[in-house]
Amino acid sequence: MKKRVLIIYTGGTIGMKKTDKGYAPVSGFLGDAISSLADMKSDGAPEWDLYEMSPLLDSSDVTVKEWNKIAAVICDNYDKYDGFVVLHGTDTMAYTASALSFILDGLDKPVVLTGSQIPLSEIRSDGKDNLVTSLLVAADGVANEVCLCFSGKLLRGNRAVKMSADHLVAFDSPNYPHLADIGITIKYHQSALRHYKGDGLKMTPLSEVPIGVLKVFPGIQFGLFETIMTEKLSGIVLETFGAGNIPSDSGALIPIISHAFESGSVVTVCSQCPSGTVSLGAYETSSALKAAGAVSGFDMTTEAAVAKLYYLFSLGIGVDEIKLRMEQNLRGEMTV
Ligand code: ASP
Repeated sequence: MKKRVLIIYTGGTIGMKKTDKGYAPVSGFLGDAISSLADMKSDGAPEWDLYEMSPLLDSSDVTVKEWNKIAAVICDNYDKYDGFVVLHGTDTMAYTASALSFILDGLDKPVVLTGSQIPLSEIRSDGKDNLVTSLLVAADGVANEVCLCFSGKLLRGNRAVKMSADHLVAFDSPNYPHLADIGITIKYHQSALRHYKGDGLKMTPLSEVPIGVLKVFPGIQFGLFETIMTEKLSGIVLETFGAGNIPSDSGALIPIISHAFESGSVVTVCSQCPSGTVSLGAYETSSALKAAGAVSGFDMTTEAAVAKLYYLFSLGIGVDEIKLRMEQNLRGEMTV
């Protein structure tokens, strides 16, 4: 019997049409485009259905609400399909992939995010290959986790980063091996895949938790951020230099972090480097962060750290437990 895959179209370039104001998603347009692709009807393709979200969005407009909606569609249809393809804009695809990996606990079917840099209806579109390969990965049932499939790469969703605004090879996971080699055949890397034996799928909808991301730069005047980094922010991701370093004369930052920590904010330290890990205390310039109560994001991407903060604060657990779990590997998002 043929496998069945549900394709969920959320918006993004893959199904966009040129309008007077630039590219925009148009309802019904993607369905017509993919139905006419020979590959989608070939014997080698699984059976598939298309679910179009409403409204269709440029992924810059995707919020926690849409993450919950996508997850709900997957949960509602979980027993009817062998796998899921989520067609999504590339701009925030890594955030959505990270969020879905936390929202959906106990996945034992593939959820594959993809999209394209050139609309499917245009010449030289990368959309067809990305879609057809994702469809096959979703039907294979080997990568039973949230993954991102793009330009011949299969990546763990919560390790993926958008690397290029204009290259067709737009994503990579600098801190984690690819889940498969995609060439003439798809060769899965068993050692890189998650082999989760859960007791069924469980969905945790995310709440609209106030979160901030602050990127450190030379000469940063931390005092200016004092009014922002208050207890009003539940979670703060601090993008630091290298292994978790901040300027050592940043006297103003440490009291701000201590204050945030004492009033229940969780400050997570990530690195601006795409690869490598935060190691708090390795240098004098990062020791103060640790002492002030910040937690280490280790080798997590900022995208994953943001999604994890949303998730943990949505669980209704105490702040101490959140801090503890921020430093634990929950969905393969970090190497501890
Ligand atoms: N702005 C588009 C989006 O993220 C870009 C894309 O899909 O490639 O929806």
